[in-house]
Amino acid sequence: MLDDRDRIFTNLYGMHDRSLKGAMKRGHWDGTKDLLALGRDRIVEIVKASGLRGRGGAGFPTGLKWSFMPKQSDGRPSYLVVNADESEPGTCKDREIMRHDPHTLVEGCLIAGFAMGAEAGYIYIRGEYIRERECLQRAIDEAYEAGFLGRNACGSGYDYHLYLHHGAGAYICGEETALLESLEGKKGMPRMKPPFPAGSGLYGCPTTVNNVESIAVVPTILRRGAEWFAGFGRPNNTGTKVFAISGHVNNPCVVEEAMSIPFRELIERHCGGIRGGWKNLKAVIPGGSSVPMLRAEQCEDAIMDFDWLREQRSGLGTAAVIVMDQSTDVVKAIWRLSKFYKHESCGQCTPCREGTGWMMRVMERLVRGEAEIEEIDMLQDVTKQVEGHTICALGDAAAWPIQGLIRQFRGEIEDRIRARQTGRVTAVAAE
Ligand code: SF4
Repeated sequence: MLDDRDRIFTNLYGMHDRSLKGAMKRGHWDGTKDLLALGRDRIVEIVKASGLRGRGGAGFPTGLKWSFMPKQSDGRPSYLVVNADESEPGTCKDREIMRHDPHTLVEGCLIAGFAMGAEAGYIYIRGEYIRERECLQRAIDEAYEAGFLGRNACGSGYDYHLYLHHGAGAYICGEETALLESLEGKKGMPRMKPPFPAGSGLYGCPTTVNNVESIAVVPTILRRGAEWFAGFGRPNNTGTKVFAISGHVNNPCVVEEAMSIPFRELIERHCGGIRGGWKNLKAVIPGGSSVPMLRAEQCEDAIMDFDWLREQRSGLGTAAVIVMDQSTDVVKAIWRLSKFYKHESCGQCTPCREGTGWMMRVMERLVRGEAEIEEIDMLQDVTKQVEGHTICALGDAAAWPIQGLIRQFRGEIEDRIRARQTGRVTAVAAE
């Protein structure tokens, strides 16, 4: 269990003063000039040594990502872009950081920007986060007034500007290249890769896009050392992690814990257990709506980290844990996610534009049992034709929950179809 003195986010619940004064009392902005004096290469080295992996879902090593940025400018400026779009259903962790502990992010933006040679940073915050934007903007203004941002930031001799941009509420703008398009004032549609943002990102300039949490933990890593951060979790899955647990637990919450915490401990310690007890657990989506669900039996010994969950053909994703008890109609739950992805598809590639609608309509019939058993395999085939055949990962995100449902609850889908065929309609859970 993570000790209180090892928490990076000391105001996650908004119990303390979130202003600059309060943040400084809690140790933020302490000796930031000295941290910058470590130099670009040393900061990247420390972040690499800490084992920090991106907290936005993909889990790509953060230090390595920074090292892709050009060392020497070819005349173009470089940019840091922070992805604060956080639109994945079930995910609400960055929100707590931005509204209650915003200075962790603002300080992180300065240090990360410096480490990658950026001239400015842009935070792209989701359209629905209005109060969060206000808190974050206040924190940025305070940092400017104190001389921590702008010309000669923190007296380091480095000029750095930080801008907050408010999105308009489209899920696809959380995809990094769609986010860049949107930031440039265009329609939020993902770009083909390559070129990758490190080569040609915002306004065609070298850009690194990072998640809020990935950036906000950096100042503390530098202050406390890479070994300290790497001391939590299992090898290759290190550090502390903010989990957002929702659904059928007694006390849904957002909590910072050590990476690789067992699922049972996470739920017992912070969420007051499963509603109705562990026997009442049916399934868990461990990392935001796009990752495949796990059955209750798999969750008993589950370890909440990137590698363990990938071995189970699921994923840690954004660490948004959605818990479902026996009262859940899992077919209907996944249909609802299909509806979401269909709605949010930007429509520029055919497998996603057509496939998400097709999958949603079949799921709709499966909820009512109005299908043939063979259609389950047909649906599985379609998910495979969408997965990996699209410009961005939304296609995969739409396919994976359905694949997870078929893998884990095929029997339940078949029972429902048979119940409908034999007229035992009372067995049909969702009407
Ligand atoms: Fe747009 Fe979907 Fe293609 Fe992504 S996969 S670019 S959301 S159509």
